[in-house]
Order: sequence, then structure tokens, then C-alpha cells
Amino acid sequence: MDSSKISNRWNDDDAAKLTDDLSLRVYTSRLLGQDKTLVLHGGGNTSVKIEETSITGEREEILYVKGSGWDLETIEAPGFSPVRLQHLIKLANLEQLSDIDMVNELRTHMTRASAPTPSVEAILHATIPHKFVDHTHANDVVSITNTKDGETRIREIYGDDVVVIPYVMPGFDLARLCAERFRAEATDKTIGMILLNHGVFSFGETAKLSYDRMIDLVSRARAYLHQHNAWQVDDKRETVNATKTDINALSELRRMASTVAGAPMLLCSHAENATIAFSQRDDLATITQSGPATPDHVIRTKRVPQLGRDINQYSAAYTAYFNEQSAQASKAKSILDTCPRVIIDPELGLCTLGKSGRESDIIADIYRHTIDIILRAEKLGGYQALPANDIFDVEYWSLEQAKLQKSGSVPAFAGEVVLITGAASGIGKACVEKFINKGAAVIALDINDAITELHTSANYIGITCDITAAEQLTAAIEKGVSRFGGIDMLVLNAGIFPASKRIEVLSDELWSMVMSVNLDANLRIMRQCHPLLKRAYKGGRVVVIGSKNIAAPGPGAAAYSASKAALGQLARVAALEWSADNIRINSIHPDAVFDTAIWSDEVLESRANHYSMSIEEYKKKNLLKVEINSDDVAALAAEMCDALFSKTTGANIPLDGGNERVI
Ligand code: ZN
Repeated sequence: MDSSKISNRWNDDDAAKLTDDLSLRVYTSRLLGQDKTLVLHGGGNTSVKIEETSITGEREEILYVKGSGWDLETIEAPGFSPVRLQHLIKLANLEQLSDIDMVNELRTHMTRASAPTPSVEAILHATIPHKFVDHTHANDVVSITNTKDGETRIREIYGDDVVVIPYVMPGFDLARLCAERFRAEATDKTIGMILLNHGVFSFGETAKLSYDRMIDLVSRARAYLHQHNAWQVDDKRETVNATKTDINALSELRRMASTVAGAPMLLCSHAENATIAFSQRDDLATITQSGPATPDHVIRTKRVPQLGRDINQYSAAYTAYFNEQSAQASKAKSILDTCPRVIIDPELGLCTLGKSGRESDIIADIYRHTIDIILRAEKLGGYQALPANDIFDVEYWSLEQAKLQKSGSVPAFAGEVVLITGAASGIGKACVEKFINKGAAVIALDINDAITELHTSANYIGITCDITAAEQLTAAIEKGVSRFGGIDMLVLNAGIFPASKRIEVLSDELWSMVMSVNLDANLRIMRQCHPLLKRAYKGGRVVVIGSKNIAAPGPGAAAYSASKAALGQLARVAALEWSADNIRINSIHPDAVFDTAIWSDEVLESRANHYSMSIEEYKKKNLLKVEINSDDVAALAAEMCDALFSKTTGANIPLDGGNERVI
């Protein structure tokens, strides 16, 4: 697609299928959401005013406005909160309305109790006397408003087609100001409002008209950027080469960030040409330290990014900013963590920090757009964000803080990274599921290509890897660490169990193959991951999937039993050597886990026949007469990495339903 022009995505055929106003509202809201230069991750909001009959028979006008927690790109009808319009208009005429009272009024004047909390810009939408209202934080408009003479340029572009609103913090005060200015300045020609350093509103009597006007307004801003030679941002992008990622540098940076944050954080590297080119600019110290492109980005990105790798210096500067700004605040504020969310480094490019892959990716998206906005504003004479006090007000605004805290309790492994081998099936696959559910970011390795598609979560990266091939293993670890910033936990699960062979016919090749997968590869993984595990904020943890065969071997399984016994000994020595590095290593010894790839129905039946048992009896052939599943092993593996085992290392725990030979 030609990115030099904004595309109008309206499609007559699609729209013709929609007959009611709310469906059309959903439709054009999604069109806006599809264009990331208009709307990014929960930014922007839309509304429609619809007359309805209440349950008691009165006609009333209802404002359907985007509810918080919904994204325009994927919004559905239930994502719009129905609020009584006349009440909102009365609220707009009040002299003052506190945030808490405003949210209370919005929630208590909805006509559907289960609807989400209406957008904080609901009152503003209510005061605009048009049926459809669209609001975005369009990059192109913000690129122009965030300059020294932004207002002059905006007036030059739009004349009296728009009402221009100086910056005021979103919420009641902004709604009042917009209503006032609109009453005073709007004419028949008015099709929108430009909110300086914030975004743009359009409106109209139909969904199409309001949408077309948004596209028209933003297109004029883009055309202006073209005319002023400000569209092409950075020629070096084409020539710069992303350097090889230094995983030790990344994991060290992540360790320091987690220490400053007081909790484990993921650190995701985004070393693309555009971010590397940006991170190598000479004027970085000026252009990146002005502030965010639009104030609501601050809750994701913090006010400014960190330049280089000195996290302690960033933390000190953030504390100074907080102290200075909070001293002027009307209410006492408590400081958020002082860890950066965006790091720009000439070698690492753009790095983003968050509690999850999704959060880090959202921050990266926002910053990539910010880079374009900054560079275009620079070409117009200089990027200029709002002063620090305005940004602080939004960062420490109770309603914004509530948005972030709404996500609920923090999962056990939030911000932590686990590497799991043999992760495409059986115990390994169950471990992936378990660790993802507990909030961990998972680096999953398997020789089977299916591993890359196992999960779509942003907390997952699946890498095809033969762990016995040293270069493949090194490359996989590098890829995983570039994605999440380090490794805190290992689940050493990959293993092979070859067909039964007595010692007198056991070949060197088979012996070596079993040893190379079950033993040698694990030594290599442990050796390579040691420096990473050492930097784990909560201490490194290794779970070894051993075997009942160590304590109770069977005939015909010499290579397997010997490899697992040697692995068990390796784990014990690691527990001794690595305790000083605060790395714990514990082993699980499962037996008869039948829901794995090795146990086909045929094999199961033949083994059951061998013991003259039914399959059911055979599966529960243990003292407690219970069946052991992959999920049981995964649950214990996760527990061994959690608080319950925080004082245990070198442990060997059977998971076999009780076995006389082991006991
Ligand atoms: Zn806004």
C-alpha cells in the first residue's frame, strides 16, 4: 500500500449490509482502528447518538460511546456504553466535576448495567451537536501540532473548517472547553476540531460523513508534510545494518531494569533498520527528551526514553522529575517504579520493557510511531512535546492509573522467561501451557517444526532446533533472548527412549545417540544458560525431567537408564556448584506417562498384554493405582520454579504413583 496517502477504507457493499446506526458505528470505528497511523492500542474513541424508547415507554436520546478496555480495531456493539445524553449535557454545564464524580455519573446514567465504563471523553462527545463523532490521535496531525509554531501551521492548513482547541488535559475540563469553543466558533462549514498536542475530532450526520471527514482532515495534514519536505524521514534507514545481538548485554540490562523496577521485567529487543538508524543519530539527546507525542502514551512509555545503558542514572532522573512535579500537585501522589519502558542504544537499537510480551510489543509500536512523528516534526523546524507538568498530570491521573491496574492480580511468573526443550509434544507441551498460564514468557525448542506454531501468545516464541547441534542451539538461545531479554528458568525435558536392546547387541551408534540427546545436549544448554540464569531477578531455576529408571532400571534400556542416571548426577553437581549463584536445580522422576509421543495405542496394548492386564490396569500399575499425565509433570515442574520450592535445591522427586523398587 502507498503509505504516502491515507486510504479511505469505506466499502459501499460492506456498509450496505448494515442497516442500523450502531452497526454502522461499529463498522467505521473498525475502519479507523485498522489504520495504525490514526489509532494505536486503545487510543481514540467514537460515538453515535441514537433515540430509543425506555422500558417505561419514554423516548430518550442515548449516546453510545466507546467503553474503556475496547480497541477500535476489534470493537463490537457491546463495546459501546449507552449513556443518557441529556444528563451528559447537563454535566457539561457544571462549573466543576471531579474525576471520581464524573466516572460515577457516567456509570450511573447508563441504560445497560453490564456495559463497560464509558470513555473519559464521553461528555465531550455528548456536547458536539452531530450524530456521529470520531476521535483519533492521528500521527500526521500530531507531527504538525507538536512543533514550535504548530498552531499557526494548523490554522494555515484548515482555516475555519475546524475549531482549534489549545491543550487541556482530557476529562471534564477538556469537555467544557471544547463545548465553549464550539458554541463560539463553529459555523456551517465546521467539520472537525484539532486538539493541539493531542489529536483530531470529526463529526457528521452519518457514519460515512464523519469517517470521510476524518480521512479528509488527516489527508490534509499529510499533504502538508509532503509539501514541506517533511514526509521522508530518514535516508539512513536503507543503508544501516542491524548488528548481531549481544545477549549478555541484553540480559545484564534486563537484570538492572528488574532491580530498579523491584520485579522481573521482560526486555524485548527491536533491532530493525529504522530503530538502529534512529538510535545512531547525533541529535538523540535533544529530540527524544522532549516528551511523548500525545499525552496518553505516557502511561505506557513513561515521559522520556532512556538513552544508552545506565539504568541507575535514568532512575535517579525519574525520581527527580517525580519530586519536582509532585511538589506542585494538588493531591499527594505516590511514585511509580522508576524503571524505563523504552531504551534507545546505538548498538541495541530500540528495547522495550514490560511485564509481558504483549505489553512490551505495544510499547514498541507506540515508540516506532513516535520516531516518525519526531522526525517529521524535526523537518518542520523542531519537535516540541508538552511541558513536563502536563505529562505528569496524565501519568499520575487517577483515571489513567486505574486503566493500568484494571488488569488484575499479577501472575506468578509475570516478567520471567523459561526455556523448555522437547516442547512440541507430551510433557514439554504441557509445560509450555502451564508456564504460559502462570504468566511466564516461553522460549520453546523442539526438533519438530510444529513448535513454531504451537502458540500465538506474544509471550511465546517457538524455535525449531536440534539441541545436539551446537550452532543451532546457540542460535536458538540468541533468538529467544533477543525476544525476551534473558532466561530465568530451564525445563530440561527433551529426551529419547529407543527400542529395547540388550547390552550384547547395543551398538556404539545407538549408545552415542542416546547420550548426545539425553545427556550431552543438557550439559551444553546448562553451560550456555548459566550466565543468563545467574542474572535472574528471583534467582535461576532448573527443572530436570529425569526418570524412574535411574532408581529402578529395566532390562533392555541400558543407554536410556545410563544417560538419565548421568543427567541426574550432573544435576546434583550443578546444585552444589550453582548455589552460590542463587540457581536452584531440582529433578522430577516420572514413570509411565502415557499421553506422550512414545506411547501409541499399539505399544500400550502390547505392553498391557505382556503383563496380562487391561490397558486401564496397565496405566495404573503403581502402588496408589493412579494414572500419571503430562499435566501432572508440568504442574510439578512449574511448582518447582515457584515460591514453594524457593528453599529447595538438589531434590529428586518421584512422580510415579508409588513404586516399590524406587521406595
Ligand atoms: Zn484523545
